[in-house]
This record gives sequence, C-alpha cells and structure tokens, in this order.
Amino acid sequence: MNRKELLRRLPKIDEVLKEESLVVLAEESSPLLVTEAVREVIGDIRSRILGLSEDGLAEFSVEILEPGRVAEAAARRLAEDEKLNLYPVINATGTILHTNLGRAPLCEDAVENVGRVSRGYSTLEYNVEKGMRGSRHDLVGELIAELTGAEDAMVVNNNAAATMIVLAALGRGKEIIVSRGELVEIGGAFRIPDIMAQSGAFLQEVGTSNKTKISDYENAIMTDEILEDYDFFEMDPRHTERFRTGALMKVHKSNYDIVGFTEEVELEELVELGRKYKLPVIFDMGNGLMLDMSEYGLREPNVPASLATGIDVILFSGDKLLGGPQAGIICGKKKYISKMKKHPLARAMRVDKMTFAALEATLAKYKDPKIALRDIPILNMIAASEDDMKERAERLAEEIRKVNSKLALELVRVEDQIGGGSAPMVRLPGWAVSVADGKRSADSIERRLRKAEVPVIARISDDRLLLCVRTIAENELATVAAAFR
Ligand SMILES: *Cc1c(COP(=O)(O)O)cnc(C)c1O
Repeated sequence: MNRKELLRRLPKIDEVLKEESLVVLAEESSPLLVTEAVREVIGDIRSRILGLSEDGLAEFSVEILEPGRVAEAAARRLAEDEKLNLYPVINATGTILHTNLGRAPLCEDAVENVGRVSRGYSTLEYNVEKGMRGSRHDLVGELIAELTGAEDAMVVNNNAAATMIVLAALGRGKEIIVSRGELVEIGGAFRIPDIMAQSGAFLQEVGTSNKTKISDYENAIMTDEILEDYDFFEMDPRHTERFRTGALMKVHKSNYDIVGFTEEVELEELVELGRKYKLPVIFDMGNGLMLDMSEYGLREPNVPASLATGIDVILFSGDKLLGGPQAGIICGKKKYISKMKKHPLARAMRVDKMTFAALEATLAKYKDPKIALRDIPILNMIAASEDDMKERAERLAEEIRKVNSKLALELVRVEDQIGGGSAPMVRLPGWAVSVADGKRSADSIERRLRKAEVPVIARISDDRLLLCVRTIAENELATVAAAFR
C-alpha cells in the first residue's frame, strides 16, 4: 500500500473515542486526558508512516490503523501516564535497611495513623484541652522520655539535620572535640568535618585513626578556668589564641569498623570527663536501636543504654534500626534540648504531621518490647529464625512453580545484611530461592524482574539470581511469583 493511502486510512479522533473501552475510560477518569492520549497515538502512527522506507511500507500492517487497536494503544498510554514516580517495589536483596529502596518499611499502625491524621485537620500545634496553641515539639517528647530515660526530645528532618542543629546550638564559634577514628562519612554528602564547618563550630581532632585515649580529649580541652590558672608570665601563647571548647563528641562508627591495634574511649569515660570540665557530651549514634538485640547477632549500642551513661545529648535516625519514618531525633538533658528548640534552624528543619503520625505510632510499639519485635517490620526481619525463612523460601518456590514450571529453582543459604550504613560487619544467616532459566543469564532475569508490574529487586551472586526471603513480606510472595509469569 502506498504512503498516501495509509495516511488516508488513519482513523479520526472522534471515531476512536466512540470505542466502548474509551467511552468507559473517559467516564472514569477524564475525557480531556483520553482525547489527548488518542491524539498522541494517532500522531505517532502518522510520523511512523511518514518515516517508512519502501520496504517498510510494503510490510506495514494495516490493522494498526483500526480504531479498536488505536483505542487499545491510547488506553495503555493513559495508564502509563498515570503512573507516579514513587511507587512500591519488592526488596528481594536480603538487605534490610536498603537506602535506595526507602530504608525502613513502616509498621501497619504507623501507615494507618498517617492516613488518619493527614486526611483532615489535626492537633499538630493545637492543645485541645486548653483550647489554645500547642507545640509540635510536645507531640512525642513525653513518649520518647518515657521510653529512653531522656529528659526531653526534639524531632527534625533526619539525623544529618540533627547533627547540624546540635553543633550549631552547642558549638558555634567554639571547638568540638572528636576522635580521629570517628570522622565518619555516611554516604552522600554527610561527612562530620563538613557538617561541622557548616554549623559554625570548629573541629578539634584528637588521637589517631586507630587509637584515641581519654587523655587525648583532656589535653585538647580549653575553658576559661583553665586559662585563669595560667600564670601571666609563663602563659603558653597558643592558649590565648585558642578557641574555647564547646562540647565533647562521640560519633558511632555506623558503617565501618577499625580492627587490629585499636583503642577508643567509652561513653562512660567521656561523660565523666565532660562533668569534670562542665562540658556537654554529645553522641551521634546514628542507628536509633531502641532494644538490646544482641541475641540476634546485633551488638550495637542502643538508645536507653547510651542515655543511662549520663550523656547530655544523643541523636539518631528515625528510619534506621528504630524502624520508623525518616526523621532525626535529638534527646537528652532539657537545658540543651531547649536551646535547640529555640535555635533559628529549628524552623528550617521541622517535620510534617505525616512524620509525627508515623513516628508516634512506631514509638508506641516500644512500650512493650515484645510488641515492637512482633509489629515493627525491620525488627521482625532481624529476628526472623532460619527455620522460618527456609519455610518461606519453600513457599515462594512453590508459588513460582505454579506460574512457571520451566524454571530451575533451588533453595540456598545466604548471608543477609542490615544495610543502610548500619552494623556493616553483621551477617545474618538466611535463605533464598535461586532461579535459573536454561536460556537466560542471571542478569537478563534480573532485568525482566525489574520490569514486572510490581518490580522485584533481586540479588545476583556468583552469576546466580537470588530471591532472599528475609526482606520479602509474607503477603508479597504471590506478587513475586507473578513476576515470573
Ligand atoms: C546515618 C547516620 C547519620 C545520618 O543520618 P540520616 O538520618 O541518614 O541523615 C549521621 N550520623 C551517623 C553516625 C549515622 O549513622
């Protein structure tokens, strides 16, 4: 057929819009968007015809021009346009706090509370009893105090923001003493020395990469009292130039470990030193672990135990091992927390009602550690037993077999990780389903799984495609299987 004839046969927009499927779609969504989709599809076909070679013209299938086919293409395009950029995927990597996949999944009650609170108006800054303005800082302050032993708490956007405001409030124009073994970089642009510079505090590094002693901290401290003790004539001129110490700071080595000939100062010793010189002691703890999880192989500091040392200020993320929404939680002594609440940066870093809704519901679980372990997804994943995971892997293999009997499936042992820059040395023994397809490489299966309706993000190890079940929820098994159809 020649080009002119094909162009003549292109259906009219109105003609396509009469197709039953589109009439329904237009009623359900929007006549404007349906018409637009049809116009675009017809436009595309026209351009294609105009670009065809002689051979192409001879091979062109005229069915594409039927109104029914154009309507189908328009419906597909509409569905694609409606898809948002942020949508769920299934994490089959076995890495629990996968930063790229949104760190901690929320517990059911947190999700429900976000819906309840954000659908309408709420008590975000309103005290219902008194009928007057309230403060969003009070929403979770008492609960955090009850759970951790802190005097007061404050919530900001994330732990990077928490670090920034703590340093700005307690250290601006002064020195903050940090061990050289703890000058952490946490992915992206978060580096302790850089945040320090932004906050207006001065970093005073002490010790070495592998060893820092309490005397290293003490030798670096400079206070007005120390300066007074110097006899004018023997005064070391360096000391008159020096800034005063604002605080002592410990940073948790969240995403690395130093092994071999090492020494670091424990929180208790640092707290004692702070007392002696009346200096606040800050702990950037990072992960926000609220319970002792050492029986599950996780030997990390936790919030209540750290506060029990008498530390003045501790800060951590809401979406790491706490298992809640993205947030930075600062807690400790009231006199320091009040300073931060009044700091001009507090407004720039304040969080939304959705965060408070999710955070309060998550924190409430910790009133009973058993409930936290049962209901908070990431704690659940950490505590999952090998037997449970083997069973889940068996069920997943069964589901996959139901939809595709040609694949070679095998249950294999794997080592899962905490992820999210937390507990890098911990390996959790788990189970996975290894999937092989005679014709295809692991890479090619992995790509296809990412294109499923609900994308499945798998792990590839030694050229094998692995579906690690630790991070796949029970109610996601059938969805994972459906991706193999
Ligand atoms: C993760 C982490 C941060 C950054 O926290 P975000 O919530 O990701 O901003 C800061 N310090 C430490 C020690 C951390 O582990």
